[in-house]
Amino acid sequence: MSLKLESKAIKAAAAKLKFRTRAFIDGQFVNAASGQTYDSINPATGKLLAKIASCDSADVDRAVQAARRSFEKGVWAKRSPAERKRLLLHLADLLEKNLEELALLDCLDAGKPIADCLTMDVPDTVHCFRWHAEIADKEYDKVAPTGPGNVAMIVREPLGVVVAILPWNFPIQMAAWKLGPILSTGNSVVVKPARQTSLSALRLAEIAAEAGLPEGVLNVVPGNGAVIGAALCRHRDVDAVAFTGSTEVGRQLLHYSAESNLKRVLLELGGKNPQVVLEDAGDLDEVARQAVNCVFWNMGENCSSGSRLLVHRKLHDKLVAKLLEASQEWRVGDPLDPATKIGPMIEESHLKKVLGYIEAGKKEGAKLVLGGGRALPDSGGFFVQATIFDQVKPAMRIAREEIFGPVLSVLSFDTEEQAIALANDTAYGLTASLYTQDISRAHRVARALRAGTVSINCFSEGDASTPFGGFKQSGFFGRDKSVFAHYQYTELKTIWTQLG
Ligand code: NAD
Repeated sequence: MSLKLESKAIKAAAAKLKFRTRAFIDGQFVNAASGQTYDSINPATGKLLAKIASCDSADVDRAVQAARRSFEKGVWAKRSPAERKRLLLHLADLLEKNLEELALLDCLDAGKPIADCLTMDVPDTVHCFRWHAEIADKEYDKVAPTGPGNVAMIVREPLGVVVAILPWNFPIQMAAWKLGPILSTGNSVVVKPARQTSLSALRLAEIAAEAGLPEGVLNVVPGNGAVIGAALCRHRDVDAVAFTGSTEVGRQLLHYSAESNLKRVLLELGGKNPQVVLEDAGDLDEVARQAVNCVFWNMGENCSSGSRLLVHRKLHDKLVAKLLEASQEWRVGDPLDPATKIGPMIEESHLKKVLGYIEAGKKEGAKLVLGGGRALPDSGGFFVQATIFDQVKPAMRIAREEIFGPVLSVLSFDTEEQAIALANDTAYGLTASLYTQDISRAHRVARALRAGTVSINCFSEGDASTPFGGFKQSGFFGRDKSVFAHYQYTELKTIWTQLG
C-alpha cells in the first residue's frame, strides 16, 4: 500500500483495510474455542470497527502450550544468536514495508493521530526490532575471576515462556518494546493486547510468521483482561509476565504470581509526572512548546505525560500566557486527518473519567484557563478539549491522580527545594522534565528527582538505547528498551568446572 500524507488518500486506504480478528495460536489464525467475539469500537466515531475473537482460559491454555512446545523443541531458543538477529532484521524490514497499513490500524483502533502513527509509532517499532536484533549476537557472557583450579562461566539463558500484556495507548510500539528483547533473547511468547486495540498485534504476528518465525514462538490472544490476563498470569507453564498498564492491575499480577508458580513479574505502570521550570529556564516560548507537547501528545494518554507543571512564581504569569499560545497548535479532530494533533479518548468510559477529573478540578477551586469540556460531540467520538488548570494546589485530585487525558495542572513554587519536594510528592516516579540554563543545577536537581527518566530542557523518553521504566509505584523491575530490557528476559546460570 502506498500512501501520501494527504487526507483523502488516507481515508480511502482506511476504508480498504482488512482486519485480522481471530487469535493467532501455533502459527495460525483461529477462532476462540467458545466461538465468542466482542465488539471493537472506533473511538473517533463510536461505531463498530471489528468483531474480535473473545478468548478465554481454554484459548490461553492452547497458546501457552504452543509456546511451551516451541520452547522445549528449541526451534527458536536454540538457534544461534546470529540467526535470531537475521530473522528479526527481516521482520523489521517487513514491518517497514507495511508501515502505512500498521499506522492506519493503530489510528482506527486507538484514535491516535495518523501523523503520529506514520512518523513515530510505527517507525519506532521498526527501529526497536532492529536495535534488539542487533544486540542478539553482540553481548558476551562472562568468566568469573576464580582461582586456577576452576573455570566458572556465567551465561545468560532465555526464561522460557513469557507473557506480554499490553496497554491500548501505544499498541504496536508497546508490542515492539516487549517483543524485541523477548524474542532476541530466545524466548517464546504469548501476547495479550489490550481489549480495545488488538488489530496491530494480530497483524504483527502474521508478519512475523511471514518473516519465518517458527510456529508457536509468538502467539496472540485477544480478549478481556480480567479473564484472560488472569488465566495467563496464574498459568503454571508461564515463566514470566511483562506488563505495561495501570498500577492497580500491576499489583494484581503480583498476587497471581504468588498464588501460582512465582513467575517473574516485570511491571511498567502509571505516572503523575512533573515538569519543573526553574527561574533561569531560558527561552519561555520553547519551554511552553515542550511543556504542552509533554502533556497533550497522544491525547495525554501517556504514562510519561507531564501533567503537573511546576513553575517558579517569577515566571508564572508569562509562562501561563505562553502555554495558552502554544496550545493553539493542538487541534482536536478526526485522527485520520493529518492536521489533527489530538484524537479521541480510547472509549466512552475513559472520556467520562477524564471529564470527571475536569469537574473535580473546577469544584476544588483550580482556575480553568483553557478547554474544560467535551469536544466534537456530533462526531459520535469520545473527544475532549485540551485543558489547562492554573492555581492548582498539591492536595487537589488533579495534582495527585493520573488523569490519562489532555489535562495540565499548573502549580507554583518559590525555591529549588520546594520544587524538588513538590515534584517528588507523588506515589509515582516514571518521568520528569526540568528546565534551567545552569548545567550544574540541572544535574543536581536531576539527581534529586525520583523518576526513571529525567529529561533536561526538553520532553523526552530517550531512545532505543536508554532504559524506560519507573521508580516507586510506577514500576516493579520492569524496564523497556536498551540492553537492560534484554537482560531481564534471561536467567543467569553459573557453570562451574573443576580442572584436573
Ligand atoms: P490496564 O491496567 O487496565 O490494562 C493493561 C492491560 O492489562 C490490558 O491488556 C488489559 O486487558 C490487561 N488487564 C486488565 N485487567 C487484568 C487482570 N486482572 N489481569 C491481567 N491483565 C489484565 O491499563 P490500560 O487502561 O490499558 O492502560 C492505561 C495505564 O497504563 C495507565 O495507568 C498508564 O499510565 C499505564 N501505562 C504505563 C506505561 C509505562 O511504560 N509505564 C506505558 C503505557 C501505559
